[in-house]
Amino acid sequence: MPGMASMNKWAVAIHGGAGVIERTLDPKAAAVRISRLEAVLASAREQLSRGESALNAVEQAVVGLEEAPEFNAGKGAVLTAAGTHELEAAIMAGHSGACGAVCLLETIRNPIRLARFVLDRSPHVLLAGDAAERLAEDLDRVANDWFRTDLREEQWKKWKSTADEADAKGPATVGAVALDMQGNLAAATSTGGRTGKPCGRIGDTPTIGAGTWADQRCAISSTGHGEAFMAAVAAHTVACRLEFCSEKLEVAMQQMVHEGLPARSGGMIAVDTEGTIAMPFNCEGMYRGAADSMGRFGADIWS
Ligand code: ASP
Repeated sequence: MPGMASMNKWAVAIHGGAGVIERTLDPKAAAVRISRLEAVLASAREQLSRGESALNAVEQAVVGLEEAPEFNAGKGAVLTAAGTHELEAAIMAGHSGACGAVCLLETIRNPIRLARFVLDRSPHVLLAGDAAERLAEDLDRVANDWFRTDLREEQWKKWKSTADEADAKGPATVGAVALDMQGNLAAATSTGGRTGKPCGRIGDTPTIGAGTWADQRCAISSTGHGEAFMAAVAAHTVACRLEFCSEKLEVAMQQMVHEGLPARSGGMIAVDTEGTIAMPFNCEGMYRGAADSMGRFGADIWS
């Protein structure tokens, strides 16, 4: 059985988006972002080392990143062409194949919690818009402009005047993948999408198999140019290479990110049942971090 080899090991990786992250980035801004990643990682480490499920750990890690205003998910999400926010998220449990995804959300404070609700409580996989938002009465809802930050407003203004996708230069989509001590894997991803996206555009994040995937061999979360990840069915293709070509996780991930996707389109994080973590990207940088039961712990931005 895939998964049996990993009993008592745990591992987790998180990301806060990939893109044009110049090495001239203000060191103070870089330090704040690294410390956000480390705080989320520390709490995932605490959960997984006391035996919490991978599914709960990735959900909680993504909630932590949604709450951090630096990243493009929850508070701090980018703006649509109309100057509004439309959020999306997905979560998947590798051991059961159960998944939940949501998109076109305008008022749910933590979209990943609604995705988890869909996973746990709905016979469906992907739910959208206002009807989806009204499903989970207990979840916090906020006004749409609560998600706005000065950085995202500036990027939107720049996009309006130049049509330049300025958000590719800032922290982006967030995600988490984990292996728990029971040998189970899970993945979760959450985003505001791309600056200036037309209202109604849905990206790779809530598209199971593109931006988010988990099975009994690996768990994967993607970040970058969503359309490219969707066309490549990126996350699921990596999983297929493990299953049908018996490739190692690192090999399959490198192949997908450096050959299967267009140059400079983004990155992916993954973990397998051995606790191996892979985090390749094909652009300047990716906000990312990893921890495991062997003592690994740390976050980084560049190569
Ligand atoms: N993949 C996301 C999207 O296209 C954006 C990102 O990861 O930065 O919606």
